[in-house]
Amino acid sequence: MVLIKRKSRKKNNKAGEETVVKEKPRKKKRRKKKILDLDSLAKKLVQDISEYTGMNTLQLPDKLKQKITREILDIVITSTSYKPSTDTILKRISRNRELINMIIAARMLEELNEFTDEQLEFIVYYGKRMIIPEISRLYRILIKKNRKDLISYLQYVWEKYGRPSPVKCPKCGFNAIMPDYTCYICGYTVTESYIREQISFEEKLREFIKEASVAELLEVLEYGFVFVSREGIKTPKSKIDPSKIYYQIYLKPKDKALIKEEISNRKIPV
Ligand SMILES: [Zn+2]
Repeated sequence: MVLIKRKSRKKNNKAGEETVVKEKPRKKKRRKKKILDLDSLAKKLVQDISEYTGMNTLQLPDKLKQKITREILDIVITSTSYKPSTDTILKRISRNRELINMIIAARMLEELNEFTDEQLEFIVYYGKRMIIPEISRLYRILIKKNRKDLISYLQYVWEKYGRPSPVKCPKCGFNAIMPDYTCYICGYTVTESYIREQISFEEKLREFIKEASVAELLEVLEYGFVFVSREGIKTPKSKIDPSKIYYQIYLKPKDKALIKEEISNRKIPV
């Protein structure tokens, strides 16, 4: 029985004890030889890849082309034990075009200080979510260059990939007033009364007063403020969804009067 089993294993080339011992050293040698050095491969392919992806047309400095090429190789080469042909690499780049354009755009924005018109257009049109971290700087560059066309496209990028807020900035026009009342894009700070007006605070407060429990109304009176978002009002102690933008609004005497009135109405037995 045992003999038969061993024989059949060998026939099927499965890892029987003997074959393992024989094959192990060979495999190790092969692997060591074939581990790809992506840095030197990037040096070899930087011209081909720069030509293919348009980095040459964009006139990127050599050092940046090298850096981006290395990053592209990280994406398109999934195993370092096997080197695909240049053609295969270019085909994979073509398949990942959208992501690779995003990387080229984001790295240009991060690494360059002076930009040509073509570079700026590429960054704004292809950067997508990857340019959001530097969007404020990009906005200032576009203002300096007076590229209003690109700024309006950047507004679309912010709406789609950024963190659009319920309150529009009166200075730059982006929906980007953050909970600290400042604009994420241009840094302008708005007043509380501007937020109240833009978010229709009084209307939302009236709705809240109608629907809240007496305990919640008392809580609001005690703290003297509420949180307001596009959806409505939350009390100071309620859980705030961090992905949503809430503004802290302090109650005015007239707001407090409305709340007190509601509380005294509810206390009257029907
Ligand atoms: Zn702004």
